[in-house]
Amino acid sequence: MERDLIITMSTPLIKPDQLEYLINQFKKELTHFSEEEQEQIISAFRWAQDLHSHQKRASGEPYIIHPLHVARILIEMQLDAKAVTAGLLHDILEDTDVSRQELKDRFGPDVLHLVNGVTKINIVNVKNKTVQERETIRKMILAMDKDIRVILIKLADKRHNMHTLQFMPVEKQKRIARECLEIYAPLAGKLGIYSVKTELEDLSLKFLKPEVYDEIKFFLSQKKAERAEFLEKVQEEITSAALKEEIKVKVKTRAKHFYSIYQKMKNKGKELNEIYDFLGIRILCKTQTQCYTLLGLVHHLYKPLRGRFKDYIAMPKENGYMSLHTTVMTPSGKPLEVQIRTHKMDNTAEFGVAAHWAYKEGKNELDSFNANLLKKLRDINSEESTDFMNSLKDDVLTDTIFVFTPNGDTFELPRGSTAIDFAYHIHSDIGDHCLSAKADDMIIPLNKPLRNTQTVSIQTSANAHPHLNWLRFVKTNRARSKVRAWLNKHDNDVVIDRHIVAKKTSAPPPPQQQKQESEEKPVQNKMMDTSKIGVSIDKERNIMIHLAGCCNPTPGDRIIGFISRGRGIIVHRDDCSNLKGINDFDERKIDVEWENYSDKATQRFKVNARYVADLFSEIEGAIRKYSGHLISGSINETDRGDLEGFFTVEMNRPDDYKKIAKSIRTIPSVLNIQKMNQF
Ligand code: MN
Repeated sequence: MERDLIITMSTPLIKPDQLEYLINQFKKELTHFSEEEQEQIISAFRWAQDLHSHQKRASGEPYIIHPLHVARILIEMQLDAKAVTAGLLHDILEDTDVSRQELKDRFGPDVLHLVNGVTKINIVNVKNKTVQERETIRKMILAMDKDIRVILIKLADKRHNMHTLQFMPVEKQKRIARECLEIYAPLAGKLGIYSVKTELEDLSLKFLKPEVYDEIKFFLSQKKAERAEFLEKVQEEITSAALKEEIKVKVKTRAKHFYSIYQKMKNKGKELNEIYDFLGIRILCKTQTQCYTLLGLVHHLYKPLRGRFKDYIAMPKENGYMSLHTTVMTPSGKPLEVQIRTHKMDNTAEFGVAAHWAYKEGKNELDSFNANLLKKLRDINSEESTDFMNSLKDDVLTDTIFVFTPNGDTFELPRGSTAIDFAYHIHSDIGDHCLSAKADDMIIPLNKPLRNTQTVSIQTSANAHPHLNWLRFVKTNRARSKVRAWLNKHDNDVVIDRHIVAKKTSAPPPPQQQKQESEEKPVQNKMMDTSKIGVSIDKERNIMIHLAGCCNPTPGDRIIGFISRGRGIIVHRDDCSNLKGINDFDERKIDVEWENYSDKATQRFKVNARYVADLFSEIEGAIRKYSGHLISGSINETDRGDLEGFFTVEMNRPDDYKKIAKSIRTIPSVLNIQKMNQF
């Protein structure tokens, strides 16, 4: 967890008149917001100052200067008032004692959501990670929130922190710079926000390799005048050539950013003065066709270098980046990198995902860009932008969730994974002794699917061990095979093989009770009715399960097993006609079921009851008692004045129905309960 170095002081650091001055300056930057929005932003500013008033940054500045900078960056990125408000408040949950509820009460659920999202990213442990783990972290941060503003606020936070990194101890500078280079810069790139990506890369280089950074800086400043003259000439030549073709262009000249020069030095093993092509120009025009015409013009003016042409218009990068790239040799003998793109493509490259909303309506005039972006960001949670984010995250999101350990380590798990999967993912000993689990500090059932970004902790006990029913809800193969292995080794009552569980049944109940029970249950589930048999599985543990060749049971079929002589357990479909031919079938029958029986089972049933007012809630209560979920239910009065109700219940496993039915039967007004066919 990376924290800004905070020093707590005994007295507030800003005098009231200084504060008013700051606020007045800040107000001038908010004029494009509505009056109401301005008020909200200023009130967030005052509150943040209040909460951080005794804290200062490592730089010695009052803490409020940091969130203020973050808010300014967000304003510069044309984000909406809620994002700016959240930018001002982005550190309060982590660094002050304020509660989430209070934040919500003051600024509403959206701002709370944004601040919460940024706080969540902050707890991700990014220290000392392998390449693979860093990839996971980047994917996870992308996956953490549907609302892209959360990531934009985090990037703004990162930008300002990187600008003030010199106040940190050197060791910390290096670590934070490395994390920035490996996680946040690529993240900005992934979102296509190249302006932020290059800035973060250059700042990282500054702290990671200060001597290289200074060398490049000195070298470039030395030749500044010469370079400017050269670029001006090129600019002129291209502009006039384009005008002859009646194409209006805008030519931007630029020096390559430091980090890419450094990479060139490193990758090609060259000294700075051996590298010529750190000069580049960007030609902006209106249409795609013009791009290709301009490419022809440039190649006509200067000789293109072989193998340096890239067409990202025909084949855009996955983040939406489009441009033509070429490198040419100028008459002065200096190579020049040329990018050719439309204004629209250029904005996509600068603003990345944010630009997407601005151009969705097909306007590509620069002037309308800001207003448009603003409008789009205001309804950033619209379906359309969510769709866009979804498609952006498609490769990482659909099937996985990311969860944390309490110390911020990140795990990627298949969607639907439970605390058991998580426990086995950490270590098989933790899985084998998993007792209970907490997600975000709340105890959760072990069978409950985890949600994205939850912080999960596992409580273990020496006496706890895997249970058969874990197999019904574990999602990962790792957990499944561990549970299966444990049970096969330690539980003498079960054999698990080929995804089938064969269970030794409990001793038959006394005859009287047995009779009574079958009377009470008009419809019985044949497969589950184990009361009559008492076959025990041999002590030997290497018993095998075979699927009968005659009826070929497939997962989901109702099945029944019997213990064969010398061939282990044979499993048939329960309607297989061959079963009738087995003489001593009843004695050798054994309970079998599919190991990963669909994690939810549904059952329809009918209830007859005497007239009472609260039957519905009584039944609902009985269902909930066994973690069942009432999918549908209706109760009608019969001609006799009784009640007749039909219900469909969803349960964690088919077996639960017995308990639910038993519990409903104990409701005094209930006369009868009966299983129904599904539909
Ligand atoms: Mn911060």
